[in-house]
Order: sequence, then structure tokens, then C-alpha cells
Amino acid sequence: MARVAFIGLGNMGAPMAENLLKAGHSLKVFDLNPEVVDRLVSNGADSSETALAAAQQAEIVISMLPAGKHVESAYLGEEGLLSMLSSRPLLIDCSTIESETAQKVAAAAEEQGFDMLDAPVSGGVAAAAAGTLSFMCGGKEAAFKQATEVLDAMGKNLFHAGDHGAGQTAKACNNMLLAILMAGTSEALQLGVDNGLDPKVLSDIMLASSGKNWTLEVYNPYPGVMEQAPASNDYKPGFMVDLMAKDLGLAEEMALKSGSAIPMGSNARNLYVAHQKKGNGTKDFSSILEELK
Ligand code: NAD
Repeated sequence: MARVAFIGLGNMGAPMAENLLKAGHSLKVFDLNPEVVDRLVSNGADSSETALAAAQQAEIVISMLPAGKHVESAYLGEEGLLSMLSSRPLLIDCSTIESETAQKVAAAAEEQGFDMLDAPVSGGVAAAAAGTLSFMCGGKEAAFKQATEVLDAMGKNLFHAGDHGAGQTAKACNNMLLAILMAGTSEALQLGVDNGLDPKVLSDIMLASSGKNWTLEVYNPYPGVMEQAPASNDYKPGFMVDLMAKDLGLAEEMALKSGSAIPMGSNARNLYVAHQKKGNGTKDFSSILEELK
């Protein structure tokens, strides 16, 4: 069992950290928001005043932060973990960020004698709670092998995508596809409803037909079809529109650099950014259906 520090206990980080506790790892946690820390402490974690205090005695440090700028500020600079830590734990960043930022932070980490992995996840809050996430890792093979001890407690599919940044590249491709599927599924459901169909009946038909996809299986965007889905809970996240808009921006930047055509991804990004600008940033990303009503 490992001594783990967990930084960032939001919608994803908190249930992931809880699974580490359940697996018997010892855990020190830090988040800027004290309320989310209390939840972990009541489950057996130790709280720390700073990220540095959480990480100081750890063998493995895991971060789950919103975006690249938060990851840079946690690890880089004079006050960052890379400069301040006297020990050399394995660093695993599970946030979804730019591949370039992941490469930059990992290069700085290696320079200081740390091993680091980018390890973004897929599966959403339900998979985080169930310990069934997919991890897409970028970094050295030895670091990936070392990380499996803790990643196994939080996920069921562990992939080594390649060197530093490769996990983030895979994640951007996956989330672009997810946004396209969510927007397309919402479009199909609203079209059916506008033409007199019951959204539950239409969902059942598409689930047994060629339109079947993950959003219909576990994350139906139409209110009332799936009791546990954010759509049936006032679109409470889940996975925020702000984060999906960020991820689609990552895919767009990647496509510009590689000269790839992503017509569906660009459309999905435009749709999500327009939805975000109307004040929907903190709603769940399945609320994109409201744009189509
Ligand atoms: P969230 O906003 O719910 O949680 C982020 C947490 O980080 C918050 O509790 C915030 O207080 C904390 N935080 C921010 N800066 C910090 C700092 N400097 N030090 C310590 N804590 C800090 O976000 P989330 O939904 O948990 O997502 C986290 C990451 O996982 C994002 O990159 C997101 O794109 C990705 N992701 C989310 C989902 C999902 O379904 N929610 C699924 C896959 C991947």
C-alpha cells in the first residue's frame, strides 16, 4: 500500500480519492475548497493546509485540477511542488490539459529528478465513484508500471498511450467524439419529440439500433428518461459545460497544429461555446439539448 497525496477533490477527484482509501492506501488531501476536503476527512483521509504539506511525505502525488493553468501553478514556479519538494514521489496528473503543457511540466519534473505521468481519465463521475475509469497515460514505461498500483484502485482500463503528452492527445480525441455524440444524440431525441415521439421510447429504440452510443447507455440528455442522469437533476454536473468547451478547444488547437480536418468537432465546439456564453458554463454538458429545444 502506498502513501498518496491527492490534490483537487472536485466532482472527479473526490470519488477517485475515496476509492484509494477503500483500497487501503494512506491518503493526504488538499483542495482550495475546504468543504470538499471535509468529505474526504470524514472517510479517513488526512487534510493538509497546502499542496506541499500533502505531498511532502508521499510516495505518489496525484492531481485532478480543472485546466492547464492550475496544473502549471501547482507544479511549476518558485512556489510549485517541483521546486519545493525535498522528496521525489512519482507525480501523476489526471487533469485534462493541453498535451504541450503536460510535456512542459513533465520535462521540468524530469530535470528535477521526478518521474511524471499525464493520466487523464474517461468515464465521468459515475465511473469515478465505481472505480471503473479508463486511464490514458503518457510517460515512461517504468513510471506507468509503478502507477498501476494506485490507478488499479480507481480504474479498470489502464492504457499506456506513449511518451509524455500522449495521454492528453488520446483524451482530446475521445472528448471531441463524446461532444459530437452528445450533441447528435440530443438532436435526434429533440427531433423525435418534436414529431410526437416519447423520448424514453425513442431512446429504447436507438439503444437497440445502430444509433446506440455511450450517451444513450448511461447519460441520456433528455430530462426524465434516466433517473440518475444529470438531465433528470436540473443538469447538475457531472461534467460541466465549461470543461467540455475547454476540451473542445484543446482538440481544435491540436487539429490546427497537425493540419487535421475536424468539421464535426468544430461544430460541436461552436455549439458548446455558444451554450456556455448564455450562462450555462456550470451546468452539465448534456444540457446542450436545451440549445435544440
Ligand atoms: P471540478 O471543478 O469539479 O474540480 C476541480 C477541483 O480542483 C475543485 O474542487 C477546485 O477547488 C480544485 N482546485 C482548483 N485549483 C486548485 C489548486 N491550485 N490546488 C488545489 N485544488 C484546486 O472539476 P472535475 O469535474 O473534477 O474535473 C477535473 C478534471 O477532470 C478536469 O480537467 C476535467 O476536464 C477532467 N474530467 C472531468 C470529468 C467529469 O465528468 N467531471 C470526466 C473526465 C475528466
